[in-house]
Amino acid sequence: MEKVRIGFYALTSCYGCQLQFAMMDEIVQLLDKANIECWFMVDRDSDEEREVDIAFIEGSVSTQEEIELIKKIREKAKIVIAVGSCAIHGGVQSWGKDKELEELWKTVYGDGRVKFEPKMAEPVENYIKVDYKLYGCPPEKKDFLYALGTFLIGSWPEDIDYPVCVECRLNGNPCILIEKGEPCLGPLTTAGCDARCPSFNIACIGCRGAVGYGVAWFDSLAREFKKKGLTKEEILERMRIFNAHNPKLEEMINKVFEEGE
Ligand code: SF4
Ligand code: SF4
Ligand code: SF4
Repeated sequence: MEKVRIGFYALTSCYGCQLQFAMMDEIVQLLDKANIECWFMVDRDSDEEREVDIAFIEGSVSTQEEIELIKKIREKAKIVIAVGSCAIHGGVQSWGKDKELEELWKTVYGDGRVKFEPKMAEPVENYIKVDYKLYGCPPEKKDFLYALGTFLIGSWPEDIDYPVCVECRLNGNPCILIEKGEPCLGPLTTAGCDARCPSFNIACIGCRGAVGYGVAWFDSLAREFKKKGLTKEEILERMRIFNAHNPKLEEMINKVFEEGE
């Protein structure tokens, strides 16, 4: 059986997703079935020019050079997987999407200059077709193994289309939103983390991203947050952390605050 050719590429990111995968013991077993063509974190002989069967992309598209890189990856890969919240949703670096790039640049770098041409952080899918998504910041190891294992046997992994609340209720946690009035984003957020934060009595901040902008009820949840006393700005700020690229977010929250009491 021919080995599957794998590439792992990093855009603007903290490298946490690939570190999560590189630290897995199972990577060694994988080497029987796969050739790593490009993954600079684990192989110094990596080459971005090689063709691959599966390309994993981490990070948000935040420079002009990264736009060219992901187009090249798409051309050379049969399957492209966006890995983690940066690649799928633009990540926390998209949080300031409502501000000008120049203002953000000055806040972080002052008068410093770099050799690349920066742009606002964006999801990979804004530029190329993405075939599958591994949610999380970083994704769970089990998600990586499940997806890869499924591809290795020539099948296709299922998507996760239900929210963190499902796992939270199955774990029998008391609801932080209802009982403590804290702004938990579990009802909007893609499950798969086994409701990690609510299980420690901490409200979910939505790090796995929304279950889909067309189906996640940001307005309904904002209405609940408003009843708990949060202002429009506080709600927007919280929901934007990992969902800044939701094109209707502001409109939905505005609608809630125009409704009156
Ligand atoms: S998704 Fe999270 S862990 Fe992965 S690169 Fe982005 S910030 Fe790091
Ligand atoms: S604590 Fe959060 S995740 Fe758990 S049920 Fe309540 S709203 Fe959902
Ligand atoms: S509970 Fe929410 S913030 Fe915590 S790991 Fe899960 S998705 Fe991320």
